[in-house]
Amino acid sequence: MNVLKLEDVTVRYGATTGVNRLSLEVHEGELVTLIGANGAGKSTTLRAINGLEPLAHGCIRMDGHVVSGASPAQIIDRGISHCPEGRRVFPQLTVRENLEMGAYRRIDRQRVRDDMERMFDKFPRLRERVQQVAGTLSGGEQQMLAIARALMSRPRLVMFDEPSLGLAPNIVEQIFSLIQEIRREGTTVLMVEQNAYAALAMCDRGYLLENGHIVSQGTSAEMRANPEIRRAYLGG
Ligand code: ATP
Repeated sequence: MNVLKLEDVTVRYGATTGVNRLSLEVHEGELVTLIGANGAGKSTTLRAINGLEPLAHGCIRMDGHVVSGASPAQIIDRGISHCPEGRRVFPQLTVRENLEMGAYRRIDRQRVRDDMERMFDKFPRLRERVQQVAGTLSGGEQQMLAIARALMSRPRLVMFDEPSLGLAPNIVEQIFSLIQEIRREGTTVLMVEQNAYAALAMCDRGYLLENGHIVSQGTSAEMRANPEIRRAYLGG
């Protein structure tokens, strides 16, 4: 059963095309990755799903219901959450306040507090820094905060945009294993990554984007065995 389905989605920025007639789907419980070079349209795809970019053409459905045209807040209410590129934590707010922002659409305040405790169990570093303003956290800590914040809306589908960007290799490993853990716990994941090697190793299925268009798709094994992907994205 697919949770998310994009059909023929086109996003334009004036005369530039961000994505062009892009179709993809994500099934319940899957970890799906979207790979591609700089400017291929990966972030645009996530921003379109998230209600941040209007579609020039096509349709996005969640659980069979059309969600294209909905506002970012309505998309959160539908169960989709976004961990944006560059983390985008609120630098002047504390760790606790950032997490509260992730739950701003929720009215079940006691459960929000319980979820915050669960986040602190999952990310002990954040518990230690709960009153620290986010702008003074290290890059890896900010990424953990951005992930925890994205989970605070209790999403069914969480989207990660370049979670490894700018982080040291040992932190990248931690972040990738956290993402796998999130999936194991039952949340569906759509992840954009430039690190094609790691992304294809951990996903169930992958899509390759070039110039705003899907040019290849398959299971993790199929993608890794594809000669063109090996040559262009996996270093031979
Ligand atoms: P990167 O990894 O570099 O972020 P990407 O695959 O995420 O690349 P996008 O950021 O989605 O690619 O960009 C797709 C295309 O849309 C590019 O040609 C880009 O220049 C263009 N684009 C993206 N955002 C805007 C914008 N706000 N205004 C104009 N053009 C844009």
